[in-house]
Amino acid sequence: MDDEYVRRTAITRLVVSDEQQSLLEATISEYLTGTQLATDMVWPNVSTKDKLQPLAYDPIREQTDLSSQHAILATHQAAEAISGCLERKNKGLKASKPTYTSPTITYDTRTMTLFDDHTVSLTTVESRIRCPLALPQDEDGYQWQFLNDAQWELTESTLTARDGTYFLHMGFRRHKTDAERTAEQRTAENGTVLGVDLGVENIAVTSTGTFVSGGELTHWQNEYEQRRASLQQCGTRWAHENMQSVGRKEDGRFTILVHETANTILAEARENDCTHIAFEDLTDIRERLPDATWQHRWAFRKIVEIVTYKAKSDGIRVEQVNPRHTSQQCSHTDCGFTHEDNRPTTNGQDEFRCLKCGYEIHADYNAAKNIAVKCAKNLHRLHTSSGGGAPVDVRLNSGLLTVESRGTVVPR
Ligand SMILES: [Zn+2]
Repeated sequence: MDDEYVRRTAITRLVVSDEQQSLLEATISEYLTGTQLATDMVWPNVSTKDKLQPLAYDPIREQTDLSSQHAILATHQAAEAISGCLERKNKGLKASKPTYTSPTITYDTRTMTLFDDHTVSLTTVESRIRCPLALPQDEDGYQWQFLNDAQWELTESTLTARDGTYFLHMGFRRHKTDAERTAEQRTAENGTVLGVDLGVENIAVTSTGTFVSGGELTHWQNEYEQRRASLQQCGTRWAHENMQSVGRKEDGRFTILVHETANTILAEARENDCTHIAFEDLTDIRERLPDATWQHRWAFRKIVEIVTYKAKSDGIRVEQVNPRHTSQQCSHTDCGFTHEDNRPTTNGQDEFRCLKCGYEIHADYNAAKNIAVKCAKNLHRLHTSSGGGAPVDVRLNSGLLTVESRGTVVPR
């Protein structure tokens, strides 16, 4: 069932009067009592909604003031908590009987109604109450896209109290579009990843072996610095204007270069029928690439941004992976040895030579392969947890690597 829908949550504060607040407080308190009651009755022997509901429904109705539907929801909540605990236990983790203290209650479409005037009516232990949603004034609030679009339907919501303020987490869902379904199928059936390493000497290197030299960027950057330095010495108005024009010319060259690089990466992905393009996460790029100037860092971010934007229309997804060890690890399938000395600094930055297996390869290409494999492993893990377990391919210049059962990487 979950496969048919896209699900989102919109969070908003509720405007409540004092009287409504005490009703909500009482309702939440009864709900926690009911959920605990159901849990205490069956722990740890029953963990499914179907079995728990008939056992605990009557006792909850007798011992709390909950409405019939909230009594049912409390049994469902208990079942979910118990099965979560048992799952942890099965993994050998510590898991004791669930207790419920956080002031939170579930509302479904039977216990909550959302009206067009952006108020909600909520079931309580006494009468229903109707409260306005405290939505953002401007139309930019992300909540509006769910409220103002009939495609999105309300599902299950949770109400949480925090210091006397009530937050409603409204669950929405809509049917997936055909494009979304197709993209997912492609991924689930058999993903193919193109890895991309971004750097200074080579601005981009793909796992298919395409190199985009960073020479031009460095050249224009030096030109700029030099001309700026000499103009600065003149210090006249004329020099100032000239400097700005150097800057503009610079910006133009950088922008063209960045677009060309992004297009090369995209063309490579299309030609090789890739479903995913993987970059490194750029968060700590300043520390990881001390040689990169602000122009490089700007270029890297821009490249990822353009590729992400343009890839969408081809149904290609862009992922960013954790950069840890991607440049130090040996990308040979039988090895994977990680050591900083795999990059001998004496013989130039290009070289990667594995201290363990002796594998020699261009350092940036080694990184691009590692990035692709990392992404493929993440995707494979996702497939496996969603029950698919389909293998994921990595596109190389010499063929394919396939990440299959339990993350093993095999050449094809
Ligand atoms: Zn090795």
